[in-house]
Amino acid sequence: MKKIHLYGNWKMNLTRGETEAFFRDFAAQFSSPSPLAGAMGKTLEVAVFPPFTSLSAAESAIRSMNKDVAPILGAQNAYFEAKGAFTGEVSLPMLKDAGCTHVILGHSERRAIFGESDDLIARKVKAALDAALTPVFCYGETLGERESGKTLDVVSRQMHAALSGLSAGEMEKIVYAYEPVWAIGTGKSATSAEAEEVCALSKKLVQERAGRSFPVVVLYGGSVKPDNARELLSMDAIDGALVGGASLKADSFLQIYKQYSESKI
Ligand code: PEP
Repeated sequence: MKKIHLYGNWKMNLTRGETEAFFRDFAAQFSSPSPLAGAMGKTLEVAVFPPFTSLSAAESAIRSMNKDVAPILGAQNAYFEAKGAFTGEVSLPMLKDAGCTHVILGHSERRAIFGESDDLIARKVKAALDAALTPVFCYGETLGERESGKTLDVVSRQMHAALSGLSAGEMEKIVYAYEPVWAIGTGKSATSAEAEEVCALSKKLVQERAGRSFPVVVLYGGSVKPDNARELLSMDAIDGALVGGASLKADSFLQIYKQYSESKI
């Protein structure tokens, strides 16, 4: 069975107290005879991305957990400068200091609501790699772009922009997350065939640009939940899911993996 990367983007949700409760429920899900027991690190990699104010609560909960069930900790955004007069921003070294190893960059909500450009996102991706953090680079088309047949052009543009100036070794360290904008938070997921087409193209594009082949990790994101997980995660080019709404409760979040793994027994 392939390894599933299950990443939870909490967005602007969960206070410190709610974060502590999440991790209590999360750890309880792993006690045997759960299908999750023994999966972490082997067929499952989990990462959670709390808001900045809950990172320390998450970090201490993770530190006190058994290493065999502990998830990866990441943040939802960062600025590319290391420090200075950038009111309201958080830097990559600060995230490292807070216990993060991963950072989501280029999320469509950052692009659409906060006006982040391809160029700004590229600078952030490079800065994350320089700071030895794993960028979870998000890209995807809007509904209008899909309906006018521009999906592959838009995805290529966003990916080429993020990869420009990176070495093959750097490209290999990125986790890629294809997230069609029209599927995020709408309850309307892409079909498995739609998601597979773009995830497969993403792998090809990274390898062509890198000039060599290596395993490219590509997640699908957009209304992934327990009842569509099996089909999406069974697709060849999909290595996991970036999950928003369904990641806020440990039970529904981990159900996504359980639904997939039970179908493979
Ligand atoms: C996301 O925010 O990255 C996401 C995919 O959200 P949702 O699962 O709620 O669509």
